[in-house]
Amino acid sequence: MRKLIAGIHRFQKRYWSENRELYRRLAEHGQFPEALFITCCDSRVDPLTITHGEPGDLFILRNIGNFVPPYKEDPLDGCGVGAAVEYAVEHLEVRDIIVCGHSDCGAMKALYKDRNKFVATPHIAEWLRLGDRTMAVVSSNYPDRSREERYEITAEENVLLQMENLRTYPVVIKAAQEGKLHVHAWFFEIGTGTIFRYSPEKEQFEPIRGEEG
Ligand SMILES: [Zn+2]
Repeated sequence: MRKLIAGIHRFQKRYWSENRELYRRLAEHGQFPEALFITCCDSRVDPLTITHGEPGDLFILRNIGNFVPPYKEDPLDGCGVGAAVEYAVEHLEVRDIIVCGHSDCGAMKALYKDRNKFVATPHIAEWLRLGDRTMAVVSSNYPDRSREERYEITAEENVLLQMENLRTYPVVIKAAQEGKLHVHAWFFEIGTGTIFRYSPEKEQFEPIRGEEG
């Protein structure tokens, strides 16, 4: 905790002071983020750090495993993800939604654990059911991979399926049809700092080069 308090002191003294004008603008005019960024709770994955962004750039939604439950008619059944998606698209009018998975994801590994071991953590057990489809895709398409390879493939396939789930939300369908919204699948490799994006044309993830701007 002491580290966090010291960090607040440094933030106020340095970062806030140096970016006083940015914060004044954000306080006066509100937020106009360019994108909704959906990623995992993992402490090593920080959207603003990996995109070298500033406060106000990204509307961020994080949950264990960066899952997006498919659209449901009953909105109270949506774990808050649907509300964030609808708010970002309909009210903030973001131009892009990025679903970003990552290497060494504990949630992807947990998918393969015996669910009977989750008795003390029923919320985790229930939440991981969102990965059942991902596991089915991986086991039928990549049967002979090593455990480590399978985890990485699971994380990649998982972001693709969450991207599909996003496209079940009426606000996303409408904005995409009008050409106002694009949905992207990214993958962050922690050990190398590389960020990959899925190319629908090539049907594979490829590194995003910094110079592309
Ligand atoms: Zn994770």
